[in-house]
Amino acid sequence: MSRPALVTIDLDNLRHNCAVARRHAGPARLLAMVKANAYGHGSVPVARALSGLADGFGVSSLEEGIALRAAGIDAEILLLAGCFAPGELAEIAAQRLQAVVHAEWQVRALLAARLPRPLVVWLKLDTGMHRLGLSPAAAADAHGRLAASGRVAELRLLMHFACADVPEDPRNHQQLAAFTTATAGLSGARSLANSAALLALPESRADWVRPGILLYGVNPFTEPHPIAAELRPVMTMSSRLIALRTLAAGEGTGYGSDWTAPRATRIGIVAMGYGDGYPRHAPTGTPVLVKGQPTRILGRVSMDLVAVDLEPVADAEVGDAVVFWGEGLTAWEIARHAGTIAYALFTGINARVPVRYRGAADPR
Ligand SMILES: *Cc1c(COP(=O)(O)O)cnc(C)c1O
Repeated sequence: MSRPALVTIDLDNLRHNCAVARRHAGPARLLAMVKANAYGHGSVPVARALSGLADGFGVSSLEEGIALRAAGIDAEILLLAGCFAPGELAEIAAQRLQAVVHAEWQVRALLAARLPRPLVVWLKLDTGMHRLGLSPAAAADAHGRLAASGRVAELRLLMHFACADVPEDPRNHQQLAAFTTATAGLSGARSLANSAALLALPESRADWVRPGILLYGVNPFTEPHPIAAELRPVMTMSSRLIALRTLAAGEGTGYGSDWTAPRATRIGIVAMGYGDGYPRHAPTGTPVLVKGQPTRILGRVSMDLVAVDLEPVADAEVGDAVVFWGEGLTAWEIARHAGTIAYALFTGINARVPVRYRGAADPR
């Protein structure tokens, strides 16, 4: 047996979650966020599985867009940060990719570009996140210049929420109002909502919604939410027990002996560590499933190994399956224990961990 750390991606569950997103989106079109290798799930298999369910895809870079085109994905593909250098624009157009324009330097680059065909451009407005986007005051001017440039096939309008994961945050409605005001006289389809806004701010659904984490089966809010019951896990991070031992009272396990047994305790050692992408800061008590039974990790997470409490799993043996998140244990909950977010767990999977796909839409 090779090293048993494994990521399993369930494409049927992905499709189920996309259908849930669609139901909440109403008539809006759906741009599935597959940036950062589809949040670590594999952008090509994810995009293939969502073909026919999503109206388009959002990616991080020209390279990610080209990879989807090379895999035969024919849908609309948006580069969420646009070009990183003016020299990319001709290739973006040649590949029939679409570009966000979020800054004056990108407006100028586009006005000066020689393109094989006009681009679909999504003009990004900064309505309060203060990361990317033109100021509301600059948007109308940029819109006019781009529309008149002959380089734009269609101009759409976009913004991003800073606080949608906390639905009652007053900044959500402030951003919505700023966008509505700034775009009042401007033509073009509108897109505002990420996963959280799609669910909690129905006014933000507009023409295109942009769910990401929801598709991967995670509650997008910082607090528990009933949507969790509708979603199914897509990624399962698992491994197996490779050793068992019984600690005497007062003995610890792992680096620093951070945790010591209060009484004689049976523990298991699992081939899983921060070198796989399991969070090193997950503390003693972080839940795991051993043979489907809930228990917890003990002591410090090592690069290749972690200890688990086998007191609740009396019949555990070497070779038994251990689930770290996914089927039966939400990444949302693990992220909470580890002081991070599910997005970071998913995108933090190390390249050494094999990935298996399953489901009716299995691309193999
Ligand atoms: C990542 C991203 C999203 C999706 O956010 P989720 O919280 O995963 O739904 C939407 N819009 C933009 C611009 C993004 O970068």
